[in-house]
Amino acid sequence: MSAPPCPKAMVHGPCGGVAEDGCCEVAPEPCSFLPLPTVRWAGRPVAPVTPEPPLLQLMRQRPVVVADLPAVALSRWSLERAAGFVAGRVDAVLLGDHAAARVQFCPTYRASIVQAAGVTVWQGLNCRDRNRVALEGELAGLADLGVGAVHCVTGDHTLTGDRPDAQPVFDWDSTQLAAAARAAGLLVSVGETPHGPPADRRPRRLAEKVRAGAQVCFVDHAGGVEELRTFVEQATDAGADVPFIACVAVATDPGSVAELRRFTGLRLPEGYLAGIEGARDPFRAGIAAAVALAEAYLEVPGVRGVDLSGVAAPGTELTTATALAEIGRALS
Ligand code: SF4
Repeated sequence: MSAPPCPKAMVHGPCGGVAEDGCCEVAPEPCSFLPLPTVRWAGRPVAPVTPEPPLLQLMRQRPVVVADLPAVALSRWSLERAAGFVAGRVDAVLLGDHAAARVQFCPTYRASIVQAAGVTVWQGLNCRDRNRVALEGELAGLADLGVGAVHCVTGDHTLTGDRPDAQPVFDWDSTQLAAAARAAGLLVSVGETPHGPPADRRPRRLAEKVRAGAQVCFVDHAGGVEELRTFVEQATDAGADVPFIACVAVATDPGSVAELRRFTGLRLPEGYLAGIEGARDPFRAGIAAAVALAEAYLEVPGVRGVDLSGVAAPGTELTTATALAEIGRALS
């Protein structure tokens, strides 16, 4: 019996949403890619970029600190205020996807607001909400704007998140989007989930994204330092010879702890969130835990940065931004 088709119509699967038991992110069936060998990137090999983009140069000199920017969706004021808090404290902000707020300003417009506030933008793009023509337009806009980098993901299905009424697009997947972003002249990152089934083939899958054009890998919440080290070593051996940015969970109150627990495939060091929840001052405990975890991750060879990752509970966006600024300052 053949496997059911991928609900995201992916060519270069599997996505990062495969459940621990091998089931699809959105269907009660096994992920259709599990029985298949890693799909090779069949496009043209990418040429080296000269000169190197500034963020890549920086990563060769010292580790970088990137932060998810907590802001109210569709609020220019909130984006500007949050950017103001982290300006000068982090090297760039990742403007990514949000399961509880799928409708955001369009990527190029959001990037322009934050960049005008004096913060380098690492703009996220997903394949769920736009077809290849719309994505090509965004890539052209981001290149013209001069953003620091673009983070290319396939994206969660519309059946997850707050807009299940929307039609999913998935005209491309993250590998194809990475190739298009590289062709547009942008610094390109992708993500990988080390423990996502099939974990033994994730390093090879990342190597194919690198062959397509990816230059940096964000390692989704990997768990402990040894899990991160193992993945980075295996991915590098498989051919993904790129700088790695490790995602560091940031939670500073019960609401953001709850939001983090909703992350697909979240894996954290044992007791990480419980220690924050149980602290007398969760705000200070969350900052201290993030700084300690980031410092430990940065000891891993090949890890050239951290991404301070979390979702602020509604109403706590700016308080969370102050926490990110403090973590960034402690790591600088
Ligand atoms: S888990 Fe992801 S890649 Fe696998 S079939 Fe489902 S949507 Fe497709």
